[in-house]
Amino acid sequence: MERIDGKKISAQIKEEIAREIEQIKQQGGKTPHLVAVLVGDDPASETYVSHKEKACNKVGMESEVWRLNADISQEELLKKVDQLNQDPQVDGFIVQLPLPDHIDEQKIIEAIDPKKDVDGFHPINMGRMVIGLPAYLSATPAGILELLKRYEIETEGKNCVVLGRSNIVGKPIANLMLQKAYPGNTTVTVCHSRTQNLQAYTQQADILIVAMGKREFVTADMVKDNAVVIDVGIHRIPSDKTKSGWKLRGDVKFDEVSEKASFITPVPGGVGPMTIVSLLKNTIAASQNRIYGE
Ligand code: NAP
Repeated sequence: MERIDGKKISAQIKEEIAREIEQIKQQGGKTPHLVAVLVGDDPASETYVSHKEKACNKVGMESEVWRLNADISQEELLKKVDQLNQDPQVDGFIVQLPLPDHIDEQKIIEAIDPKKDVDGFHPINMGRMVIGLPAYLSATPAGILELLKRYEIETEGKNCVVLGRSNIVGKPIANLMLQKAYPGNTTVTVCHSRTQNLQAYTQQADILIVAMGKREFVTADMVKDNAVVIDVGIHRIPSDKTKSGWKLRGDVKFDEVSEKASFITPVPGGVGPMTIVSLLKNTIAASQNRIYGE
């Protein structure tokens, strides 16, 4: 079994990005500029946004966080989105989800200029991805593709089973694994909470991608020998053995599944660290007009 080291790969990619930004600057180009919009004070969102800001600083990118009150009206937020859409200094921006209940998330996502939608959540980017056109890919699925590539994992002709059909992970990764590309060219099955006899599907998977949000749900008996197992789940559980008082677990029972897998992502240190680098890569692409041209 080989453990897929997302922490190491993400560090390598950050170095590559830092070199690329340095080169852009040396050639007199504009420093890529990312803005994160944070509405309210949800602690998890605060943490994600501060990680993103730190990563931007580390690679030499310009970054800003727009902190807005939780009681901002939808109309006001739409105005802020428009302001960012119009600002030529801003290459890309994200509106950190979830948003407060009185705001229609989909309305906000659709108000973002697809050319600046570095989270890749706008229907135009999603649609372009599905038909195989250049698009901003959402961060977690893009991170998974990058791990498969860096570990040179063969995908063509394999059975890929995706557990979960969310708009941010399950649906996009299933579509990407279906593309006529590498990584891709797999035969994809997507399972969800209404799937009957889930195990019959998972046992057929050469590549099993798990994004269910169910702690340690996937056990060794559900997995084929030598399968590639990608665990997207993140669960924080109390622990008296760590300084922080908690530890992370995934959707896969790592200890037993790793005995059978050929490659497996651990939690933490697998898919998680790749998410931020995907966002950085999208922001550079935005600053260089790589997806939509001038
Ligand atoms: P989500 O929106 O809650 O979707 C979960 C999916 O799993 C749904 O499609 C659901 O089916 C399916 N599901 C739930 N229970 C099931 C069961 N017993 N059998 C079969 N399918 C089942 O989750 P998400 O946003 O995709 O996130 C999934 C996990 O990944 C979470 O733990 C989240 O924290 C983590 N995550 C990690 C990253 C990262 O960077 N590593 C990024 C995003 C998310 P239905 O559609 O039928 O309800």
